[in-house]
Order: sequence, then structure tokens, then C-alpha cells
Amino acid sequence: MTNRTVLISGAGIAGPALAFWLSLQGYAVTVVERSPELRTGGQAVDFKGATHRTVLERMGILDEIHEHQTGGLDQTLVDADGRALAVLPGEFTGGDVEIRRGDLARIMYERTAQDCEYVFGDFITSLTETDDGVDVTFERGAPRRFDLVFGADGIHSAVRRLAFGPEADYVEHLGHYYALVETDETDGGPAVMYNEPGRMAATGGPKATAFFVFASPEIDYDRYDTGRQKEILAAAFEGGGWRLPELMELVKRSDDVYLDSIARVTMDGYSTGRVALLGDAAYGNTLGGFGTGLAVVAAYVIAGELAAANGDHDLAFRRYDEKFRGYAKIARKANAGPFLAPPTTLRIKLRDQMFKRRLLLRGMLWVTDKFATDITLDDYPALARQG
Ligand SMILES: Cc1cc2nc3c(=O)[nH]c(=O)nc-3n(C[C@H](O)[C@H](O)[C@H](O)COP(=O)(O)OP(=O)(O)OC[C@H]3O[C@@H](n4cnc5c(N)ncnc54)[C@H](O)[C@@H]3O)c2cc1C
Repeated sequence: MTNRTVLISGAGIAGPALAFWLSLQGYAVTVVERSPELRTGGQAVDFKGATHRTVLERMGILDEIHEHQTGGLDQTLVDADGRALAVLPGEFTGGDVEIRRGDLARIMYERTAQDCEYVFGDFITSLTETDDGVDVTFERGAPRRFDLVFGADGIHSAVRRLAFGPEADYVEHLGHYYALVETDETDGGPAVMYNEPGRMAATGGPKATAFFVFASPEIDYDRYDTGRQKEILAAAFEGGGWRLPELMELVKRSDDVYLDSIARVTMDGYSTGRVALLGDAAYGNTLGGFGTGLAVVAAYVIAGELAAANGDHDLAFRRYDEKFRGYAKIARKANAGPFLAPPTTLRIKLRDQMFKRRLLLRGMLWVTDKFATDITLDDYPALARQG
């Protein structure tokens, strides 16, 4: 399969993973990323079980991922006086292989940068499908035509909005917000997490990132307005105990604040005509713990089905949908908000108790492993790497 052109929106994890497999098959791949440079932010992401491992091995990046493996970090749950209440073991949050999201994004990018065209600092403004392609306009670049277009542009996907309809039809706010705040002052020290009913703050560990979760109905704000995000965060944590006043001072001084809703994406179908979605754009679930694994497996399945269908995108997208719908069900169930920021003192205590019972934890790990391996991967000979 050659000469076919593909546009992928989003250079996160799903986008470069798909770019990898499609360029291997001879597609001319362009990736357009809204951010002016590769986004290397974020905390750790992880892979669980044999399915994720198999896909990473087939991509030839498992060893490199192991080289950058961080290892789950134990997190101590503390009371208002800083006394330890329980420990959230790293093995619970860290999966089988844990890596900083930024390191993973860089590995994926570097594997594909030579063979694919990356366009940073631009985004799609319209998609018009014709009989033999999709006409695409961009905010900055000249209009172009592609055979296929993929939306791998995250939970607030522009491709989904342009090809399927408004975000509100597909994205559900699950009752909590989270914020990641980069700050030099929180570097080092043990990783600690503090709860009050409906709110949580975590800090410490090797990276200077403070992490907040709070319960709230949906808030109308501009996601690119950092000042407004700081105000929202300050209001949500007002009057808090422990080190919250001090952390809010750090928030004020930080120039890297990211606040977003804990949300879930639900789609009846992942494609329409020549346009398909993958990763968080199609089945995102904020902090659900499965997004990265789903993204890399989806890229493999889409590329494999396109090869198996000899490029017949209708057939390939239908098979992708059939194979993936069941596998992505975890994204329809998970809701990290009430777990991270339980609504009452009693619920906080119950959760902390759970971490003291390692047997229960092992049971939960067993269940997550089941979800992560709940798909039969085809071999797709066309995806065998040439050396
Ligand atoms: C900065 C950042 C930090 C994150 N931190 C964590 C974390 O700490 N823990 C965790 O579990 N998950 C985190 N995630 C989410 C995690 O990466 C995904 O759940 C998962 O890896 C699936 O990846 P994805 O490629 O579908 O989406 P994402 O990783 O969200 O990537 C989407 C990409 O699309 C780009 N984009 C958005 N809109 C447009 C547009 N209109 N045009 C072009 N490009 C666009 C974004 O800039 C981004 O690079 C983070 C995501 C981002 C972007």
C-alpha cells in the first residue's frame, strides 16, 4: 500500500503510535499538533499486562521504555498534622511498566520523526469529505487533501467536533476537576496526599508537580486562561487545612497550571466516512489509568485492519469498531474523582482502610490486568517490521 496520504491530528501518544504503523506500510503521514512543540508534560502513565507488552514489543520500543521506567512511587496519605494514615503502594498506580508521559511522548516522536511530516503550532479548522478524499483547511498552513484523517487530539478533540458534532454530545463531566501545577518548591521529599471531604492535594516525590482534585459541578471557563484557572483552584481550596494555604501560594506563583474536568468520552461509532478517532478523543477517561494502553493498542488495530482490508477504510474502520468497543469498556466504567477525593470523612477513612488491606489491592490489580488483556490481538503480517 503506497501513495495514500494520511493526516493525524495530535502528537500525543495515540497520534505518533498510529503514525509509526502507517508509515511502516508506506502511507505518507502528516501529523499536525496544536502546541508549538512536543508536549512533554504530565506525570506517570503505565502499561499493564501481556497485550500492552506485545504491542510495545512489536513497535520495538519496549526496551527503551524499560530504560526510562520510573517504578511506581509509594504515596503516603496524611492527616491535617502530616501524620501518616496509610500508604498507597506504587505497584497499585504504577502498572507493570511506568514511565513519565513526556518520556513516552518523546520516544514515540523520535521513532517517527524521520518518516513522517510533523507540523507543530497549527490545527485543523475544517474537514470536507469528497468521493476521493478529505479536504482540510488549517489555521496557518495552506489547505490540503488527504485520503484519510484521524483524530488523536485528546479528550477535547477538534476532529471529533468538526466531523461528529459538539463536544457536549460526547464528553460527560464526572463531577470533579483536577489540576497539575508545576512548581520548583515542591521538588523532593516523600510523596504525600491529603484529603478533606470532596478535595485532595498531593505533592512531593521526584518531580516538582502538585496535583489537586476537587468536587464541583461543571464550570464555564477558558481552558487556555491560566489566571482564571488559578482563581478557580484558589476558590476550591479556600479555608483548607494541612499545607493547603502554602500550596495555594505556590499555585499563585507558578506559570504552568493545567486545570481540567475529570471527564469521559462516549461515542456510538469511532468513524464517519474517511475520518476516525482513537485514543482519548474516542474513549478518554481522565485519570482512569487506561488511556495510554488503549491508545497504543488502538493504533496497532487500526493499522492492522487497514492492511488486512487492503486499504478499504470502510471495512477496516468497521472492524476496528467491532474489535475495540468491548476492549474500551473500562473507559466507560472508571471514575477516578470519588476515589481520589471521597465526598465524606467516612468515605475517606474507608478508602484509606482499603490500602491497608493488601489482599484487596491484589484483587484490584488482578481485575485491571483482566481489563487490559481483554482483546484478542491479530498478528497482522503486514505490520511485521522490516529489520
Ligand atoms: C500535557 C498532557 C499531560 C498529561 N498527563 C497525564 C498524566 O499525568 N497521567 C495520565 O494518566 N494521563 C495524562 N495525560 C493523558 C494521556 O496522555 C492520555 O490519556 C493517553 O496517553 C492517550 O493519549 P492521546 O494521544 O489519545 O491523548 P493526549 O496524550 O491528550 O494527546 C493529544 C494531543 O493532541 C494535541 N491536540 C489537542 N487539540 C489539538 C488540535 N485541535 N489540533 C492538533 N492537536 C491537538 C494535544 O496538544 C496533545 O499533544 C496527559 C495528556 C497531556 C496532553
